[in-house]
Amino acid sequence: MKITEHIQKAKGKTLFSFEIIPPKKGKNIEELYGNINPLMEFNPPFIDVTTSREEYVYIEKEGLLDRKITRMRPGTVGICAAIKHKYDVDTVPHVLCGGFSKEETEYLLVDCHYLGIENVMALRGDAMSHQKYFEAAQGGHQFAKELVVQIQNLNRGKYLHDVIEADDKSDFCIGVAGYPEKHIEAPSLQTDLKRLKEKVDAGADYVVTQMFFDNAKYFEFVDAAKAIGIDVPIIPGIKPIAIKRHLQVLPQVFKIDLPEDLIKAVEACKNNSEIRQVGIEWAIQQSKALKQANVPVLHYYSMGKSDNIKNIASQVF
Ligand code: FAD
Repeated sequence: MKITEHIQKAKGKTLFSFEIIPPKKGKNIEELYGNINPLMEFNPPFIDVTTSREEYVYIEKEGLLDRKITRMRPGTVGICAAIKHKYDVDTVPHVLCGGFSKEETEYLLVDCHYLGIENVMALRGDAMSHQKYFEAAQGGHQFAKELVVQIQNLNRGKYLHDVIEADDKSDFCIGVAGYPEKHIEAPSLQTDLKRLKEKVDAGADYVVTQMFFDNAKYFEFVDAAKAIGIDVPIIPGIKPIAIKRHLQVLPQVFKIDLPEDLIKAVEACKNNSEIRQVGIEWAIQQSKALKQANVPVLHYYSMGKSDNIKNIASQVF
């Protein structure tokens, strides 16, 4: 079922969902199931599976370092299919512009269609770790909006290069990313919102936000989005703080602010288990207030660990 249909069917009740990261290649999928199992009691109608960018690895060969490019966490579509069939839940593969040509994206979407996957998140992806700015793959898209257009074309039976007349069309429901505190590269929040509107006008059906720790930022973002005519569901993304380093890493990587009270509470902790508890309690308060405001879904970034998400969900759902 489409995410938008799940939201309609819930009739105003806030749904629970979460995002997982594929294991590193060479690892068993059972570990992933071990993290999903405890969260299934909260009846997620859908689970997102991220896609990671390719990266450089260095292999020593006869005293020299040989540089190879590889994807360390492949398997997004395969994992989506495995989870969908194991748990009878909808899955949402994240589809990236970065590192993929339009043809490769078309093949991936064809696979999704055959596998009965009805939702996809259309994302640009970040720059690779050695790059300062994002660079599109050869023959790939520069912005997520172009990817939304490609997916919508496929939904109309229009394949690349018009090579075929389709009689079995896909009907993907398309999610895109939104940034309550603006995307790091955007010159202003207002410009970024206009870009979000372009994605929605191109056919995106719903938005999932970047993590935020101050609900006021989400509510202001939703109001500003509505004011410029964005009328699709905007799903808040929640991430519990888990380690002290998050105080530096999250603002740096995601260009988000952390509230003073949260910083003080983390700094007062004696160890990581206390910090994890602070993160859980903050996320519970955030989630309860968002649920009270009837947000369509609370979407949690699990980062591969489910015990804190289970703790939060058991207090909120
Ligand atoms: P876009 O919408 O293309 O925007 C990127 C930037 O370009 C923005 O600053 C925007 O304002 C600007 N822009 C857009 N259109 C134009 C234009 N025509 N001209 C000039 N500027 C323009 N990353 C991963 O690698 N894998 C994942 O699985 C993943 N999942 C994510 C899930 C969510 C919910 C979120 C919020 C992010 C996720 N990301 C993921 C991170 C995301 O890929 C990065 O934030 C990326 O830098 C931007 O992606 P986007 O889809 O928002 O890009």
